[in-house]
Amino acid sequence: MELFTKQIELKTGERIELKDITSQVQSIIKDFKITEGVTFVYTLHTTATLIINEAESGLLNDIKKWVQATFSRPDYDHDKIDNNAAAHIAASFAKNAVIIAVESGRLVLGTWQRILHLELDGPRTRRVIVQVLGKS
Ligand code: ZN
Repeated sequence: MELFTKQIELKTGERIELKDITSQVQSIIKDFKITEGVTFVYTLHTTATLIINEAESGLLNDIKKWVQATFSRPDYDHDKIDNNAAAHIAASFAKNAVIIAVESGRLVLGTWQRILHLELDGPRTRRVIVQVLGKS
């Protein structure tokens, strides 16, 4: 087993935005010629998260609506500093990472599963680390 690491840079365009990064992660596994292993994908930020779900456009809108409705409040203390408390809180209750197995050079995902980067305080430039413990 060897450790392979690569960084993905993402430019987000909206305050809350979901981006499917599955093919970028799969490309990294292909470039490193990894056949078997485990992939850790994680964000280096406090106002963005990674989730695994279906990338259907209506569902992506519904997730955005849910985040907005659930985490917005008019009286957060942190909003006095940089007006993004809701984004920090939403990120605290999601994951900063996803873990996916690799078999036969492919990410092991269910039919509808995609790796989604959830921006909570865009637009920004985001860094996502893809680290694979595997063999090539
Ligand atoms: Zn902040």
